[in-house]
Amino acid sequence: MRYVFRVQELASVAVAGSADVFPVHRIYCVGQNYANHAREMGSNPEREAPFFFSKPADAVCPDDSRLAFPLATENLNHEIELVVAIGKKGTNILAAEARDYVFGYAVGLDLTRRDLQSEAKKKGRPWATAKGFDNSAPCSALHPVSEVGHIERGKITLYVNGELRQEGDISEMIWTVEEVISALSGFFELRPGDLIFTGTPAGVGPVKKGDKLKGEVENLAKLNITVI
Ligand code: MN
Repeated sequence: MRYVFRVQELASVAVAGSADVFPVHRIYCVGQNYANHAREMGSNPEREAPFFFSKPADAVCPDDSRLAFPLATENLNHEIELVVAIGKKGTNILAAEARDYVFGYAVGLDLTRRDLQSEAKKKGRPWATAKGFDNSAPCSALHPVSEVGHIERGKITLYVNGELRQEGDISEMIWTVEEVISALSGFFELRPGDLIFTGTPAGVGPVKKGDKLKGEVENLAKLNITVI
């Protein structure tokens, strides 16, 4: 077989403390997984089951990136999130067994064109242009479970130009990592290489040209992104 043009390399994420990289298969995201963020988006966090959307695998971009301000938005928003990297194939995974499927963890940004998302919500249209644009998934190096264990708690923060914008704790997630993996694997066969962005705490807000974003999950990883 011969491809009609040179095949691009797979999108990938660095593995911390190693020369290895994690090849990205798919990027899934959880909507409204912290009560205080669900409320700021006008939803009732008590009554809604987890819901999912996705981004293209090559929307991922590494720590220390300088990103061009995206096309077609006047309201780019930051959402800092714990990222779960899947290391094993499975469907209909039980929450009690979900940890076996985790390769590692990272901290990422679910960058969002909030203006396009609001319009899509109003009109009942898909979120693809609001969520799945180029470089919309900055992600730190992955930390393997073999080194950091499973992440159940710890402060998650985002600073913009040194000012604290988002703050929460991983333990506040409405759906735990295990429950997210279980629910998502009821819709899709999870594969090694999948990344799951697990939702953001309150405080989402606008990003402007020149902003320096610093995200962190305590005792796990940091992420630095500059928008130019
Ligand atoms: Mn998000």
